[in-house]
Amino acid sequence: MKLIPTIGIEVHVQLNTMSKMFCSCRLSGQDDSKPNQYICPICIGLPGTLPTLNQKAVELALQIGHFLDAEIQEQSSFDRKNYFYPDLPKGYQITQFYQPIIRNGRLTIWLDDDNSSSIKITEAHLEEDAAKAIHPEGQPYSQIDFNRAGAPLLEIVSAPDMATPEEAKRYLTELYLLVTSIGACQGDMQKGHFKFDLNISVAEEGSTTLGTRTELKNLNSFRFAKKALEYEIDRQIYLLSSGKIVIQETRGYNEAEGKTFSQRNKEDSDGYRYFPEPDIPPLDLKTSLIDATRPDTTSSIQLRGLLQSAGLSLRVQDTILLDPKSRLLFMQTLAIFDNDPAKIKPISNWLIGEYQTIESPNLSASHLRQLIELIEASVISNNLAKEIFPDICQGRSPQDIIKERGLTQINDQSIIDSILRQVIGNNPEAVTQYQSGEQKILGFLIGQAMKETKGQANPQLIRKTLVDLLDNMLQ
Ligand SMILES: [Zn+2]
Repeated sequence: MKLIPTIGIEVHVQLNTMSKMFCSCRLSGQDDSKPNQYICPICIGLPGTLPTLNQKAVELALQIGHFLDAEIQEQSSFDRKNYFYPDLPKGYQITQFYQPIIRNGRLTIWLDDDNSSSIKITEAHLEEDAAKAIHPEGQPYSQIDFNRAGAPLLEIVSAPDMATPEEAKRYLTELYLLVTSIGACQGDMQKGHFKFDLNISVAEEGSTTLGTRTELKNLNSFRFAKKALEYEIDRQIYLLSSGKIVIQETRGYNEAEGKTFSQRNKEDSDGYRYFPEPDIPPLDLKTSLIDATRPDTTSSIQLRGLLQSAGLSLRVQDTILLDPKSRLLFMQTLAIFDNDPAKIKPISNWLIGEYQTIESPNLSASHLRQLIELIEASVISNNLAKEIFPDICQGRSPQDIIKERGLTQINDQSIIDSILRQVIGNNPEAVTQYQSGEQKILGFLIGQAMKETKGQANPQLIRKTLVDLLDNMLQ
């Protein structure tokens, strides 16, 4: 029998709001904060406090929903998920269990240049984050930092729709790109802005029911997600092939050992005693508000479409899309070219090569446009452009560099003529060789002319004029 894996993913996206989900404590710009600096009676769960829903969090959730082609729910509501843990002072987390705000979405992922698959998104619901527990090494105590407690999260739940670790990695990457490209999430993985749980089961090929699943919790690296899945799939296949069973449980991943390990038996949802949150009225969204959040920002989905339409490979697309700086520069440059589709390729070509190797490049959209226009107008050759590109990436204008170094391409026919006559006069042997049929010697003569002009002559014009002159000499 052949055992086939099935993977589903739950992603927690921290929404990019100024304040927390249910209180006005600052969330954005906590970078230099001290532990427990941004807290209030609401987010540390003191009795008698009342939560107020953050409108911006709702709007960002709707935006994401639109891009996932999802059904935005006019009616949704909040519930309490009850469990005890030191980082959850209320003894419950406010989430949306019965009526999530988003249902039935889709995200298209590309596995290579030709193959895509459409991953179904069952639902996405709003909830609050817990505090951060810190366990100092060798100390007999733990510490809790509540700065993050109550941060707004959108949990995006996929159907068990993925068959390989690579597919899961592509899904995570694509979703990350989407939420960060539209500004709905700041995307700092180290700070837990984008973390995920992976559900894995294996079953016989062709089986209509899924096998017993395990859940890998709290990962925040695409690479480790793939490795953890590979390990876990092998483990489950080994268990089933040797007549053992897979226990439904939550497992962690040890990055150093490359292994998953048992953490606890999985709670059924019954164990959380969900019930409606009495302190927050149901969310009743007007169609007008839902429509108003229909985004006018350009998302990674549209950008990928543009790059694809220009015939660029998945690798090139990823290079530009996965680097926020390149992505932004691509969008800005295309915009000042009035979104001319013919410019997608030239812009991309400058962003994938040397640009990626320059540490903190300072290349502006207007300089990149200038560079492309100078090449197209034959003012400079592609080779010259490549030569001055590192300087342009230091913030200098292409035109200034060209002026300063006197680099303008020579296109003047009379100048080219006179240079070539001189080259021909200086190299009678080469001319004889050409006349006896040795075409290869052309390269040498062109090289001499280019040397004479310090590489500034238009190479196409040099070649054409040289051939004309030599052929005329023959007649
Ligand atoms: Zn607060």
